[in-house]
Amino acid sequence: MGNIFAVTNQKGGVGKTTTTVNLAASLADSGKKVLMIDLDPQGNATTGCGIDKDAIEVSSYEVIMAEAKASDAIIRPEGLGFDVMPTNTDLTAAEVQLLDIKLREHRLRLALESSKEKYDFILIDCPPSLSMLTVNALVASKGVLIPIQCEYYALEGLTSLLRTIERVKQRANPALEVTGMVRTMFDARNNLANQVSRQLISHFQNKVFHSIIPRNVRLAEAPSHGLPVLNYDRTSRGSIAYMALASELMRRDKKATSAS
Ligand code: ADP
Ligand code: MG
Repeated sequence: MGNIFAVTNQKGGVGKTTTTVNLAASLADSGKKVLMIDLDPQGNATTGCGIDKDAIEVSSYEVIMAEAKASDAIIRPEGLGFDVMPTNTDLTAAEVQLLDIKLREHRLRLALESSKEKYDFILIDCPPSLSMLTVNALVASKGVLIPIQCEYYALEGLTSLLRTIERVKQRANPALEVTGMVRTMFDARNNLANQVSRQLISHFQNKVFHSIIPRNVRLAEAPSHGLPVLNYDRTSRGSIAYMALASELMRRDKKATSAS
């Protein structure tokens, strides 16, 4: 198992893509070799790295359909310190096409076999569903990062996500673990956010990352420039928060690796 992490939550708009792109950039900035895989047909992580979706020659669609090797799809966007396997809306078709294929849940895992050793970290941005694409990400991963926006319904969808992770663990990937939950778009002045945050900690204790990602306008602006926030405004609160999260992930990962 390579050092692969799925960034997932079937809710849309909770900060999955923002977390994937900025964690990739922060890990790379710390000297790690990083690959970011865009597995959401919307391709927000792809455009967020400055890649023109219409100009992609080989995407994660061809890789997951075994029409191309992972290494043929991987590119290094100009000015960034990490590699990207981009996607576009072609990937929407994979959801349906995968249903008729043998080993359909293992396609991404198999495709990454030959490339994974080149990287210290591989991060997968998942679509907002518990679909076959998300299952492929979970089967390929050793850890799951769950971005959570601390609002009223935050904990509701979590049960079905954790159930899906447990099912994948039992059937296909016994090594799979929840690495941690990341509180995103956090506003410390908001009582409800604090209340949900406390609930999260009382349920999941040390599974909740200490680093909190604040609501920060620079994080929302950076994708429209096709840049991770580090490349857009290095001193912003968003940059600092994702650098802290990257450090925490590296520490947790080291601990987990030395324990196993
Ligand atoms: P998801 O991938 O889960 O759908 P995104 O990462 O695309 O979520 O985030 C949803 C929206 O919120 C985007 O417009 C993004 O720019 C914005 N956003 C995400 N995180 C933050 C943050 N910490 N502060 C401000 N805006 C954010
Ligand atoms: Mg997204």
